[in-house]
Amino acid sequence: MNSGLRETGQSSLAFCYMPIYEYISEHPGVEGQSCPICSRVFELRRPVDREPLTVCPICKHPVKKLMSRINVPEITKPLSVSDAKAAGFTVLEKRDKGVYEKL
Ligand SMILES: [Zn+2]
Repeated sequence: MNSGLRETGQSSLAFCYMPIYEYISEHPGVEGQSCPICSRVFELRRPVDREPLTVCPICKHPVKKLMSRINVPEITKPLSVSDAKAAGFTVLEKRDKGVYEKL
């Protein structure tokens, strides 16, 4: 194995990857079971290798994770087909309408 690979710093990329997770209380707005923070959706960056949050960090009451978002740089202008082609994408256009193969 190439032990020198560890020195390149590539592994720190994975380490620094912190996706944003969105959480909300299991009982938002219920006194004694949530706090002002978790009664609304709050975001938390957590390393991917960390266990998902199950309780609110403030009030310690149960929270649930919402759909996680992926950190993708926002595209400021809509891509046109020619832009996509120029960027090397293969642009597919659907010719037949409503034809899907059932797997
Ligand atoms: Zn809370």
